[in-house]
Amino acid sequence: MQFTHDWLPQRVRFAPGGAAEAIVEEVRRLGAARVMAIASDATRAEPVLAGVPVVVLHTDVVMHVPVEVAQRARAVADEHRADALVCVGGGSTTGLAKAVALTTGLPIVAVPTTYAGSEATDVWGLTEHGRKTTGVDPAVLPRAVVYDASLMLGLPVPTSVASGLNALAHCVDSMWGPRTDPIDRSLALEGIRALRTGLPRVVEEPMELAGREQTLYGAYLSAVAFASAGSGLHHKICHVLGGMFDLPHAETHAVVLPYVLALNAPAVPELDRRMAEAFGADSALAGLLALRDETGAPRSLRSLGLDENQLREAVRPILDASPEHNPMPVTAENIEALLRAAWAGKEPG
Ligand code: NAD
Repeated sequence: MQFTHDWLPQRVRFAPGGAAEAIVEEVRRLGAARVMAIASDATRAEPVLAGVPVVVLHTDVVMHVPVEVAQRARAVADEHRADALVCVGGGSTTGLAKAVALTTGLPIVAVPTTYAGSEATDVWGLTEHGRKTTGVDPAVLPRAVVYDASLMLGLPVPTSVASGLNALAHCVDSMWGPRTDPIDRSLALEGIRALRTGLPRVVEEPMELAGREQTLYGAYLSAVAFASAGSGLHHKICHVLGGMFDLPHAETHAVVLPYVLALNAPAVPELDRRMAEAFGADSALAGLLALRDETGAPRSLRSLGLDENQLREAVRPILDASPEHNPMPVTAENIEALLRAAWAGKEPG
């Protein structure tokens, strides 16, 4: 066994019901006195920011971080002479804080309110003219993350399910991502176990803390594994579709994941067996499909508003972006077939 694993330097706090105090402590640890708060929804953020020295609360957040939205936020940080960023929201909000940190170097305290996992990665993303560009930079990794599952009680069930499956996609892609190692895989498998247990509880009892916490724990593990393992085929497909057709991020992941698993799992039986065990099913695909049924997850790209005629356009960019060592060789034929099946919501596999 020979590998090198980099841990990203980040402080992580799980503080159910305790975000307000934890954020104050984390801001104090940074020595910050002029905080720019970023949130997609001020009313959700304000209660947890009560004790924080906020000089401005910025709510101009747009999914996939259009360049002009990033520029406006950077100007606001400058104008208010902010010395730290606190972001309270989903992946779009964290993404905007990262875009500001990328050019200003300001430290981030992230307070996630979905299961997207961006807070645990050093990956930034910006969109310009329908093309999403991503990059890796240590400056965008939040210095501290405060996970407070009580902030998620109001996350609507369909959004929770899609977001939870986005986290599950981090786990699955981490099993064969370009830089994966045994540590990533063990984090990913524990992530699958947590999400597999937590998500159905969220659907059953959205206002119960335990299911939310389990799901959040799984989402965190999934993101740590993914940040280290790197993007596999699944993320490349969703990234191309999201950028080209402005599809909703989490829902696109939820729809596409079973098709990528059906393509890849037969080529890696040992990984399939380990994922199946984590799902508590006969195969990884059977486990994922059972979870999809239990949670009522979205099933087709058609239902997300994609036109069937657009599918072919995406094949070449997906092939160009595909990782060199996908378990199953990637061809124009199998990618087009995958997209067509995902568009129609055909039974995967
Ligand atoms: P999002 O942040 O856009 O949130 C989805 C919706 O849920 C929004 O309308 C938001 O206002 C609402 N919402 C958020 N929290 C809520 C709560 N607690 N209660 C009620 N409503 C709530 O979507 P997302 O799926 O969290 O994030 C998607 C974005 O994150 C994409 O741009 C994606 O590329 C990015 N992302 C980046 C990384 C990374 O490592 N850089 C990882 C994952 C996702």
